Amino acid sequence: MRTDFEYIVLGLGGLGSAAACWLARHAGRDVLGLEQFELGHVRGESQDHSRIIRLSYHTPGYVRLAKRAYESWDVVGREAGESCVLVTGGLDLAPRDSRIPLAPYMDSLRAEDVPFEHLDAAEIRYRWPQWAIGDDVHGLYQLQGGIAMAARANAVHQRLAREHGATLRDNAPVSAVRSIGGEVEVVAGGTAYRCRKLAVAAGPWSNQVLGYLGQSLPLEVTQEQVTYFATPHLKDFAPDRFPVWIWMDDPCYYGFPVFGEPATKIAQDAGGKVVTADTRSFTPDPANSARVRDWATAHLPRAVGPELYTKTCLYTLTPDRDFVLDTVPGHPDIAMAIGAGHAFKFASVIGRILSELSIAGATPTDLTPFRFDRPVLQEANPVRNYMQ
Ligand SMILES: Cc1cc2nc3c(=O)[nH]c(=O)nc-3n(C[C@H](O)[C@H](O)[C@H](O)COP(=O)(O)OP(=O)(O)OC[C@H]3O[C@@H](n4cnc5c(N)ncnc54)[C@H](O)[C@@H]3O)c2cc1C
Repeated sequence: MRTDFEYIVLGLGGLGSAAACWLARHAGRDVLGLEQFELGHVRGESQDHSRIIRLSYHTPGYVRLAKRAYESWDVVGREAGESCVLVTGGLDLAPRDSRIPLAPYMDSLRAEDVPFEHLDAAEIRYRWPQWAIGDDVHGLYQLQGGIAMAARANAVHQRLAREHGATLRDNAPVSAVRSIGGEVEVVAGGTAYRCRKLAVAAGPWSNQVLGYLGQSLPLEVTQEQVTYFATPHLKDFAPDRFPVWIWMDDPCYYGFPVFGEPATKIAQDAGGKVVTADTRSFTPDPANSARVRDWATAHLPRAVGPELYTKTCLYTLTPDRDFVLDTVPGHPDIAMAIGAGHAFKFASVIGRILSELSIAGATPTDLTPFRFDRPVLQEANPVRNYMQ
C-alpha cells in the first residue's frame, strides 16, 4: 500500500472533499484523502440536500469570495457534467430596527458592483404573497441567490478527485500529525503516511487535530437542526416561484423552497446548544422546533405543515464567525480551514484556496480576515457574536 504522497487532505466533508478535488486536478495520483467515517456520513456539518448560497454578505471581502465561489462551482460543475448550484433568487428580510441591519449588506454589494433590489414590505408581499410581514419589514433581493446542493456537491468533488487519480480512504481516523524534517507524518488507522503538504478540514473535530500540533482555538461546536415541513401548498414554494430567504434578526431564521423532499425546509441559525462532536446527540431539541414552527406560522404560514422530519447537524463557530483559512502557526506545511457555520456555499473555493496554499504557498484571495493569529482567536474567553 502506498504511504508517500505529495498532498494529504485530512477530513472529507464538504471542504475537504473540495480540497481533494482541486488538489487532484493539479497533482492527480499524488493526492490522498483520509476520512474517519464512511464518505457521506451524517455526523459532521455537510450532509443534507441543500445549503444557501448568496452573493449578499456584510463585507466587500465576503462578496468577492462569494463571486469566486460561484466561479469555482461553475468550473467543477462543467467538468463533472452536473451542476452543484440551483439559482432561485435570494431574499434577505429584516425589521428596520433589526439586530442584523441590511445596510452593510447593500453597501458591500454596491461596492462590488453586484445588482440587487431594495424592497419595502408591500413590494415583498406583492411578489411573494406567501409572506405575512408587517410594514416595518424591508428586504434585499439578489437574483443569483440559491441552493448549493450539499450532498450532491460532496459526491461531485469526491468523484472528480478520484477521476483525476486521487486515493480517498474512508474509515481511516487520523490519530497523530507531526512535522518531521520538511515533511508531515499523518497516522491513520495504524498506518503512518508521509506528505509534503497537509490540508486539514476537520470541521467540529478541528481542535482534536490541532491538539496533535500543540495548538487550540476558542471554537464552540453547536448542535443545530433543520425541519422539513410537508406543507399542503407545495406549488407555492416551487424553486422557480419562491427564493431562498434569511430573516436577518436575532433570532435569525432561514429557509428554502421545496427541494430534495416534498416539503419546505426552515431552521433557526445558531440556535443550538453547545456540544462536542463526540458527545452530541442526534435528537432534535423540542424548544428549537417550537420556536421555528411558531415563527414560521406567524410569518410564512403556508410553508408550514406536518413535520416530515427534523435532522440535526453541527456548526463549528469562531467567536467572530469568520473562517479560519491559513497555515497553522509553526507548521507552514499544514493549511487549515474551519467553516464557522456558513461555509458550504464557499466549499469549492475554500477547497481551491487550500490547494493553492498547499501547491504554491499563496492564493489570489485576501485571507487577512481569516488568519489563525487574529486577536480574537488568541483570547481564552472571547466575546462571541454569531449574528453577522
Ligand atoms: C444545519 C446547518 C445549516 C447550514 N446552512 C448553511 C447554509 O445555508 N449555507 C452555508 O454556506 N453553510 C451552511 N452551513 C455550514 C456548512 O454546512 C459548514 O460550514 C460546512 O459544511 C463545513 O464543512 P467541513 O468540511 O468543515 O466540516 P464536516 O462536513 O464536518 O467535515 C469534516 C470531516 O472531517 C472528518 N474528520 C475529522 N477529524 C478527523 C480525523 N481525525 N481523521 C479523519 N477524518 C476526520 C470528519 O469525519 C468529517 O467528515 C450549515 C450547517 C448546518 C449544520
